[in-house]
Amino acid sequence: MTESTELPFFGHIIDGKEVESDNAERFDTVNPWTREPWARVALGGRPEAELAIAAARRAFDEGPWPKLGFTERERLLGRLADLMEEHADELGQADSRDMGKPLAQCRNDVARAAWNFRFFAQHAKVSTAETLPMDSGHHAYTRFEPAGVVVAIAPWNFPLMLETWKVAPALAWGNTVVLKPAEDTPTSATIMARLALEAGLPPGVFNVVHGYGPNSAGSALTEDPRVNRITFTGESGTGKIIGKAAMDNLIPVSLELGGKNPNIVFADADLDNAVSWSIQSIFRNAGQVCLSGSRLYVQREIHDEFVTRFVAAAEAMRFGDPLDPETEFGPLASQEHFEKVRGYVETIESEGGTIATGGLGDGWFVKPTIVVGMPRDAKHVQEEIFGPVVVVEPFDTEDEVVALANNSEYGLDAQLFTENVHRAHRVAAQLQVGTVWVNCYFVRDLRAPFGGTKRSGIGREGGNFSREFFTEPKAVILQI
Ligand code: NAD
Repeated sequence: MTESTELPFFGHIIDGKEVESDNAERFDTVNPWTREPWARVALGGRPEAELAIAAARRAFDEGPWPKLGFTERERLLGRLADLMEEHADELGQADSRDMGKPLAQCRNDVARAAWNFRFFAQHAKVSTAETLPMDSGHHAYTRFEPAGVVVAIAPWNFPLMLETWKVAPALAWGNTVVLKPAEDTPTSATIMARLALEAGLPPGVFNVVHGYGPNSAGSALTEDPRVNRITFTGESGTGKIIGKAAMDNLIPVSLELGGKNPNIVFADADLDNAVSWSIQSIFRNAGQVCLSGSRLYVQREIHDEFVTRFVAAAEAMRFGDPLDPETEFGPLASQEHFEKVRGYVETIESEGGTIATGGLGDGWFVKPTIVVGMPRDAKHVQEEIFGPVVVVEPFDTEDEVVALANNSEYGLDAQLFTENVHRAHRVAAQLQVGTVWVNCYFVRDLRAPFGGTKRSGIGREGGNFSREFFTEPKAVILQI
C-alpha cells in the first residue's frame, strides 16, 4: 500500500486485510539519522483495537487455527520464517530507519526473529508432559491447550525480534494474536503480518494494530475483557499499569521490564574478553538494551588498566549513518528519548562523576560515555538511563561486589568475568537476577527461562516457560 505522497504507508492488519483507521488518521515515523519522517502509519485507537480483538476472537473460537495441529502450524510458521529471511533486507531496513539501529544489527535481529518462529513451532511439536501413575491406580496427565486471544505489546529497542519472541510461541501453541508494536518502530510489524498472510495464516490469526499506549490502542487492547493473555515488554512503570488492567479481567500477564544490570570484572578475568564483551554490553544498540551492563564493577588491582583499555575500545567505535554497513553505533531512537538521555549526561559532573570519555554528539547522538567516580546514590547509578552511559566503580572483595550488584531495584541480568570456575558458580548463585552471563553476554538458548526479578518483571518466557504462559494446562485423571 502506498499513499499519494512519496512516503510509504503502513496500515493495520486486521482479519486478513491491511486497513486504514476508521477515521483515516495517520502518524509519521521519523528516521533518527535524518530526523525526518520516512513513512506514514495508520493511527489506531479503541475502534481498531476492538475490531482486531473481535477478529482474533472469531479466528480462535470458530477458525481452524487452534485445532490445526502442531505439524501444520509448524509448516505455516516455517513458511513465514522463510519469507522473513527472503525479505531480510526490507525488514532490517524498516527497523533501522524507524529507530536508527545499525543495519548489520537489524539484519541479525531478522535472523533471530525467523529463528523464534522455527524454534517455538518445533518446540511445541516435540513438547511432552508428564504422565503420573498414581498409587490409587489412576493415571494423571497434562494437556497444554491454547489459552485463546493473546495481546502482545512491544517496545522499540528490538522491534521485530521482541515481537516474534511473543508472537511465535503464542501462535505455535494455537492462540490467535493482536500485536501492538511501539509507536516509534511500527513498520516491520506490518511487513511481517503481510508475510504471515502470504505464508497462509488464516485471517484473524495474527493481527497488528498501530497506535500509542495510554488512551489509545495500547490501553484499549489491554483492558478488553475478550482477551485471555497479555504479554508485555517495556518500562517498569508501564508494566504496573498493564498489570492492573490484566488483574481487572483476572487474566495472566507476563511482564518483561527494565534493568540496571551489574557487570562484574574480577582481577583474574581474561581482560581482552572482558573488555570486548563489556563494550558490547553497554554500547551495542547505543545502550538501548534492557540487558545492558550499565553498572560496571572492576576489581581494584586491574581497575586502571581495564578503564584505559575500555575507553580506547569505546573511542574506536564507528558511528554514523545506520544504513552504512560499517556503522557500529547509531543515534538514539527518537528526539524524546535523546532528551531523556541528555538529561542524565548533562548532570554527570554536577552529581559528582567524571566523564572518562563520551558526552553529547551531533543530532540525536550520545557518544559512548564512560563515567568514573559517581556516588553510589546518584540517579546515574540507580536509574535505567537506556542509553550509552556506563558508571564504573572499583571493588575489593567478592562479598562487597555481590552486595553492590544486588543493591538495585532491578534484577534482570548480570555479567561476570573470571577464570575461576568456583567463583563463577558461587557468585552466579548469589545474584538476584533472571540471567547471569559468565565470560560472555547476550548468548541465548530459547529453552532457558528469560525474565527478571524485582522491578524487572513478573514471570518467565522461553521454552516450557512460554508453554506454561501461552496455554491452559489441564490435568486429566483417568481410572484404569
Ligand atoms: P514503554 O513502556 O514506554 O512502551 C512499551 C509499549 O507499551 C509501547 O508499545 C507503548 O505504546 C505501550 N504502552 C505504553 N503505555 C501503555 C499503556 N498505558 N497501556 C498499554 N500499552 C502501553 O517502553 P519503551 O520505551 O518502548 O521500551 C523501553 C523499555 O523496555 C525499557 O525500560 C527497557 O528496559 C524495557 N525492555 C525490557 C526488555 C525485557 O526483556 N525485560 C526488553 C526490551 C526492553
